[in-house]
Amino acid sequence: MPSALDELKARLGRIADLDRAAALLAWDERTGMPPGGAQARAEQLATLAELGHELTVSDELAELIERAAGEVEGLPYESDEASLVRVARRDVERARRVPTELSGELARAASLAENAWVRARAESDFAAFRPYLERNVELRRRYAECFAPYEHPYDPLLDDYEPGLTTAELEPVLARLRDGLRPLVERYAGAGEDDSFLRGEFPADRQRALVERILASLPIPADERRLDPTPHPFLTAIAPTDLRITTRYDEDNLSMSVWSLLHECGHAIYENGIPHELSRTPLGRAVSLAFHESQSRMLENWVGRSRPYLAYLLPLMREAFPEQLGDIGLDRLYRAANRVERSLIRVDADEVTYNLHIILRFELEVALVRGELEVAELPDAWNQRMWDYLGVEVPDDASGVLQDVHWAAGAFGYFPTYALGNVIAGQLWELIRRELPDLDEQLERGELAPLRDWLRERLHRHGARFEPAEMVERLVGGGLDPAPLLAQLEARQAEVTGAARH
Ligand code: ZN
Repeated sequence: MPSALDELKARLGRIADLDRAAALLAWDERTGMPPGGAQARAEQLATLAELGHELTVSDELAELIERAAGEVEGLPYESDEASLVRVARRDVERARRVPTELSGELARAASLAENAWVRARAESDFAAFRPYLERNVELRRRYAECFAPYEHPYDPLLDDYEPGLTTAELEPVLARLRDGLRPLVERYAGAGEDDSFLRGEFPADRQRALVERILASLPIPADERRLDPTPHPFLTAIAPTDLRITTRYDEDNLSMSVWSLLHECGHAIYENGIPHELSRTPLGRAVSLAFHESQSRMLENWVGRSRPYLAYLLPLMREAFPEQLGDIGLDRLYRAANRVERSLIRVDADEVTYNLHIILRFELEVALVRGELEVAELPDAWNQRMWDYLGVEVPDDASGVLQDVHWAAGAFGYFPTYALGNVIAGQLWELIRRELPDLDEQLERGELAPLRDWLRERLHRHGARFEPAEMVERLVGGGLDPAPLLAQLEARQAEVTGAARH
């Protein structure tokens, strides 16, 4: 007779397969599907999600987990077996707390709200979106209640993305980050290089050739990935050895395709480092969204905008676009790639201002969920904070409170994971610089395998076996700390703007 653990693995494998199949359908929807497929695709995705949910909340699975827990008793906490049972139990308990009727209602409301949001944003009409957002907030509060008791109604929402992290732990970290960033914006906004040489005319086919060359130099096996264009770049792993990387070719702006590629490849390298024996289990994923984002941000910003790596990129960029970049030197590229600007739109923001965009959203969504802010008051609260934190006046709601899809999609608790990803990347980068003394020389040669190997050994190979707080502790021997990120941003800006004076 097979053990309960073996049977548990087989069942979890089927759930994982349904998830990955859905991911493949979603990838196709965003890269190659003709528009006529939209209706059918929505039904196919809903069917896969329902099947996965039924398998996850079945009594058989819950019983199997308890029997397997008996079998793994006494095994070390971090062993594959004990971790598998622990993480599966957590996933299943969470899924079983939410009534099927409420899950359906959340999905339906989000889908209606997304449609309303597209129209409201196009017309910059917050009033038209308001009732949908009110409904989403109300449903998310009901969702949170499924996980009572909790200290804070935002805790269960955050827990969906950052297992174990509480609002009380997160608030002071982001407050310190905010208070450290505001003086940096004051000092450095607008002080850098004119980056107009990265704008202009950059034909998509030549951008593609450039991006393919950069991709070929990265430590991701060529037979384990493909690259496709999409309007909003993302990375999906169908398996650790089947990575779907995307980027966007904006013919007026070369930055978009190059740094989006690096960002998504940071995600891809993480997925690629998850061991195959974990990939069809609940351990076969990243520690959390923040950890995933720490990897993409590190490649995009700490590697991708560093002086040594730009020294590697510049000749490739010049070869692809000799007339636009032929007489651009490394100093100018370095300054342009690290330019700080006060801006309205989160997705276009630079590394110094970006986290303030996020913290503003975090503070507002916490206030909404806690009932301290009404949806009707949201645009004014948004505009006030944009002024306070970034010194930017918001001309209309389309470029203000309506710019992101997250709240329309019902995703409350998601925004802070971006800022946390940057915080974690800062902590990791400080450690990496100490432990890889030859990193700069390697980056100058475009040699990223040693960095990849370090990350794989310390982080990627563990999959989701540890919670975020455990993983941070194992990596840096402490908790979440924005100080390294702030120090590195300050050091880079001092170097960039100092260089500008020569
Ligand atoms: Zn990302």
